[in-house]
Amino acid sequence: MTLAEPTAETVAEAARLLRDGRLVAFPTETVYGLGGDATNERAVAAIFEAKGRPQFNPLISHVLDAASAKAFVKWNDNAEKLAARFWPGPLTLVLPRAEGSTISLLATAGLDTVAIRAPSHPVAQALIRAAGRPVAAPSANRSGAVSPTRAEHVAESLGERVPMILDGGPCLVGVESTVLDLSGNRPTLLRPGGATREAIEAVVGPIALSDAIPSGESARKSPGQLASHYAPSRPVRLEATSVGPDEGLLAFGPEVPQGAMLSYNLSPSGDLGEAAANLFAMLRALDRPGIGRIAVMPIPQAGLGLAINDRLRRAAADDGTGQRR
Ligand code: AMP
Ligand code: MG
Repeated sequence: MTLAEPTAETVAEAARLLRDGRLVAFPTETVYGLGGDATNERAVAAIFEAKGRPQFNPLISHVLDAASAKAFVKWNDNAEKLAARFWPGPLTLVLPRAEGSTISLLATAGLDTVAIRAPSHPVAQALIRAAGRPVAAPSANRSGAVSPTRAEHVAESLGERVPMILDGGPCLVGVESTVLDLSGNRPTLLRPGGATREAIEAVVGPIALSDAIPSGESARKSPGQLASHYAPSRPVRLEATSVGPDEGLLAFGPEVPQGAMLSYNLSPSGDLGEAAANLFAMLRALDRPGIGRIAVMPIPQAGLGLAINDRLRRAAADDGTGQRR
């Protein structure tokens, strides 16, 4: 595996790998992605294989802009308005598959919709442009584990499973994209993320929320919304207002309970953007020998707090097997 600084040469090399059906990890503004040619079934199969991801959980395809998205999905008025406001940026749109769309069927897990986004990170854009095709890219970590926001996290998690990692430094947003379903009558939030609900509603009016932790019908509609995800190997305790000596504390804001074995503050000033950017790196740093449990202080449920609390709830959830991942 090569850990490469992004230059014209290394991006061209990465694009060659993608066109050959190989995988490349690359920075986006949300988290690091594990990219493969979205139109190549074997490349997409290799993504699922490298992540150990269940194949019923579809992938997001990354494109440069709305004009290129239209070759792969049936565009509509809300998509037009939202792309104008948020693209390039951390908003994924779920739209009906366009006739003749060349997106791999495996990438969409056999659904008749496609999840698509235009990332704003310049390295991601350069790579997509050089590859000349849409890039399917879930987060560059083993399935179920904490998402990577630095190139080192990718190397730790995927190592030799990925031939090349482009190192673009820490991700600025730090949580995954918001996933918004525009294929039905009313826009529906499938996953809170880097684009806030408030900002989306300012463009399209009130949106529907899918269940926080869906089951039955809504689980089938957004198969990726598993209860346990983003999980460190230690147990996670939420809404902590005090902390024990065997616990690592993930703090937020200026008033921090004392007595933890180890403590990191997501944002001493209480800034949710700063907290989102620090979330996964600090969860990783607390997930270490000697720590019995990770205690997390309450985070306000507004703006980016929706995405942060969603990830924390899944980090705290049991995966149903009695085992932590
Ligand atoms: P990840 O690749 O880990 O960022 O996850 C992508 C998210 O988008 C998962 O929650 C998927 O379930 C969701 N997703 C991808 N494609 C679709 C689709 N066609 N319909 C509904 N949800 C989707
Ligand atoms: Mg992921």
